[in-house]
Amino acid sequence: KAAPLGSSVIPIVNKLQDIFAQLGSQSSIELPQVAVVGSQSSGKSSVLEALVGRDFLPRGNDICTRRPLVLQLLQTKSKANGGSDDEWGEFLHLPNNRIYDFTEIRREIEAETNRLVGENKGVSDKQIRLKIFSPNVLDITLVDLPGITKVPVGDQPTDIEARIRTMILSYIKQPSCHRTIGVITKLDIMDRGTDARNLLLGKVVPLRLGYVGVVNRCQEDIVLNRSVKEALSAEEKFFRSRPAYHGLADRLGIPQLAKKLNQILVQHIKVLLPDLKSRISNALVATAKEHQSYGEITESTAGQGALLLNFLSKYCEAYSSLLDGKSEEMSTS
Ligand code: GDP
Ligand code: MG
Repeated sequence: KAAPLGSSVIPIVNKLQDIFAQLGSQSSIELPQVAVVGSQSSGKSSVLEALVGRDFLPRGNDICTRRPLVLQLLQTKSKANGGSDDEWGEFLHLPNNRIYDFTEIRREIEAETNRLVGENKGVSDKQIRLKIFSPNVLDITLVDLPGITKVPVGDQPTDIEARIRTMILSYIKQPSCHRTIGVITKLDIMDRGTDARNLLLGKVVPLRLGYVGVVNRCQEDIVLNRSVKEALSAEEKFFRSRPAYHGLADRLGIPQLAKKLNQILVQHIKVLLPDLKSRISNALVATAKEHQSYGEITESTAGQGALLLNFLSKYCEAYSSLLDGKSEEMSTS
């Protein structure tokens, strides 16, 4: 009883996002994704890395995330299921280039950040888009964002705080309080004698989607090259050893967070599908009309338009067959 909707629709949604991003009109259809928001060094990149299960994001005590990084996780078939256990990344700005070495992926994120905003802590709202293919991930789109910071450093403009806030808001506007899931990091370094039990139970700041508490790798773990896998088992051990966290298993640990996020995302896409379909049909009609109105079409515009049209009709077909053939499966995810 897998999640047929999640596994069949999310890849299509991801494809759509790519195409709209490439056409420079990414805002024309708003698709669901998960964005991390918090102050600088609160552990946002660490949480995302742990969700992917690999080491590949720039992170540390300083400002490391300086451009939005849109991460599309795509589940591939494992060896046991007739596929392969290979994991690789592909950047939108480096098409058809599979990068199997995750250290290399981190280097490319840093290099691509520097290409646009220099090496001196500059920040930009221009996205980097990266796909991670792996049998060990759930299909989900995550956005790593620069953290909220107060004091400009390096090449940052004096209004850095306002700029980062605006950037973050562009990812989480609309009814954000309904869509917020609280992630409490660094539970391992709370003051001795204190714990986050009441916070996790929503007794301090209630959130409709609740909280998940996590323990990521500390800076020492990073320096000593401890793997995400080791970190996950250390996390589990930590929660098992603390009586304060007993009975809260459904809201503790990175695996629970992954599960919760995927459920929320699939739910969200289900609600969104009918509207998405009508918007796509409208866009299709509008594009066709626009093309008719041009006397002469330049080759590249025609190519892009044709690509989009072709893709949109395929999408609509896929969508219809999903609705026709598998409507029962869709409601049981
Ligand atoms: P970001 O700026 O929010 O993306 O934060 P990072 O993920 O870059 O993490 C900032 C620092 O906090 C790094 O040195 C991490 O190793 C450390 N860190 C993150 N999460 C935890 C945690 O749960 N426990 C401990 N001890 N350290 C953490
Ligand atoms: Mg970060």
